[in-house]
Amino acid sequence: MPTCRFCSGTYTRENFIHGNGPRAQVCARCGVEKNFITEEEAANLFDDKLRNARLSIVARRYSMFLYIPALWTLWIMFLSSVQPWGIYFLLILVALTLFAPVWFFIRSAQFAGDMARLTPAFDRPKGH
Ligand SMILES: [Zn+2]
Repeated sequence: MPTCRFCSGTYTRENFIHGNGPRAQVCARCGVEKNFITEEEAANLFDDKLRNARLSIVARRYSMFLYIPALWTLWIMFLSSVQPWGIYFLLILVALTLFAPVWFFIRSAQFAGDMARLTPAFDRPKGH
């Protein structure tokens, strides 16, 4: 994969602007920032709105793997010795932990669809 001359980012070919000389090996974001192209010309530009939307989808998908260990830590620290709530919350935690991978798998199609919806449509020009 090519590397951008300005930001040293490595992206696939469709994330680069086209042209020779100063426009060679420049990614879409650097191309817009350095005024080689306008934002409308950059078909594959991930602007701030799009970036935030994509980040929130990724965060929603993976956050449970942060919450579940945190809940286990809280249970071990505070609730494991409390009768009878410790055992109730243990059962809930075990159910949550076992259900998490299943839920992750069930939601994978939805996640792929959301990411595809938030990916700019791009036609690869001839010769690239
Ligand atoms: Zn760049």
